[in-house]
Amino acid sequence: MDRKTFRKYGHAIVDWIADYMDHIEKYPVLAQVEPGEIADRLPKAPPEEPEEMEAIFNDFKGIVLPGMTHWQHPSFFAYFPANTSEPSILAEFITAALGAQCMVWQTSPAATELEEVVMDWLRQMLRLPEGFSGVIQDTASTSTLCALLCARERATSFAINEHGFRDGSSQRLVVYTSEEAHSSVEKGVKIAGFGKDNLCFIPSGADFAMIPEELEKAIDADRKDGHTPCCVVATVGTTSSTSMDPLRPIGEICDHYGLWLHVDAAMAGTAAMLPEMRHILDGIEFADSFVFNPHKWLFTNFDCSAYFCKDPKALTSTFEILPEYLKTDADRQVKNFRDWGIPLGRRFRALKLWFVIRSFGIRGIQQKVRAHIKLAKEFASWIREDPHFEVMAPVTINLVCFRYHPSHRTLSEEGLEQINKALMDELNRSGKMFITHTKLKGKFSLRLCIGQTNTTREHVQRAWEQLQAYAAHL
Ligand SMILES: *Cc1c(COP(=O)(O)O)cnc(C)c1O
Repeated sequence: MDRKTFRKYGHAIVDWIADYMDHIEKYPVLAQVEPGEIADRLPKAPPEEPEEMEAIFNDFKGIVLPGMTHWQHPSFFAYFPANTSEPSILAEFITAALGAQCMVWQTSPAATELEEVVMDWLRQMLRLPEGFSGVIQDTASTSTLCALLCARERATSFAINEHGFRDGSSQRLVVYTSEEAHSSVEKGVKIAGFGKDNLCFIPSGADFAMIPEELEKAIDADRKDGHTPCCVVATVGTTSSTSMDPLRPIGEICDHYGLWLHVDAAMAGTAAMLPEMRHILDGIEFADSFVFNPHKWLFTNFDCSAYFCKDPKALTSTFEILPEYLKTDADRQVKNFRDWGIPLGRRFRALKLWFVIRSFGIRGIQQKVRAHIKLAKEFASWIREDPHFEVMAPVTINLVCFRYHPSHRTLSEEGLEQINKALMDELNRSGKMFITHTKLKGKFSLRLCIGQTNTTREHVQRAWEQLQAYAAHL
């Protein structure tokens, strides 16, 4: 592609993006396609000859776009958000243009130093303890895996990095998390070699939060059996219901028994930037590591996961490698983020975070997040007022778990599941909104999460009207 064509399509694509954002509500939120439909419309073999940008861009619009689910549609209420914003998109353009590999300081000093600075901004915005150091990882799953590996190495004085697990003879290292924890904890436990048998699920209470007394009981029992309690993963804002594990009592237990405490606040972390919500991180000073995702609820497009640790030496001692070809004169004076995570290669992700924080300001971020939380509370109040619907879990931040429960019909749990699944599927097929489900203590629940950048009261109100209207026809 010559530079002239690049300019032409660069401008055309920016215009297309702005139009897309202006008219996003024309699109169905959930892609209305069948499995295989998109692949069937694409050539099976790569092109031998160069193709014109015109043809490529047209096929993007004609073939790819209909197969997209629109995460930036303000009626996207599914899962957790992965929101974005104009400044984030602009910074991604530049990151792509620079095409830099930010693995060590020398490979782009500004990338390393900007990352240090914006991560410390985030630390201040969350009021994390001063000693915490931050690094950007790709996802919360990776961040949690890093924490588990650090916990494993600290507990064994780096013996497993050195010698590997030895069958039979090695001690059993146990990881504890609540039964409501994200699946990435189990995945990390498997990858880090603890083995699923050594992941202990702690029961949660009626509020779906981990019961600290149960944690302590489990640790005691494992110690009596000669096992080695190693790590606790606590969740601030579980994926099913945004329940909040109480960090202070859990932290005190970890402190007492010398366990690594990792806190997974993948989505909910952002809420702690509001003074009135900071209590969700009460006790965070006990944590050895903490993760939250700006790519979920901080207007920064995927991927951008903020990982903080109390003792960076534990992290670098776990991950450090120094082949001859990566040695530089600056090594003694600078951070080399290559040693702060799993991959060697690193994207320049700090740039979009810097663009976002500067262009929103703390106040702008707080306004949006506060509005989302208020809308969730309001939506929950509408549910509570309707005798045919019920709220299924405490509404702690921006997620409402609920279900249709018609008061004039006697339905079994199974019947309620069927009718709610039908309601969800029909609404999602309409393309007007997108919600997902979970099970809470075995009960099928619908989830409506408010976090897309441009969601307003109108969108939430319309969602409620559609829920009521569709339910009435079931
Ligand atoms: C979304 C989520 C994750 C996984 O996040 P990724 O960045 O996609 O790996 C982990 N934990 C919790 C609580 C989450 O909500």
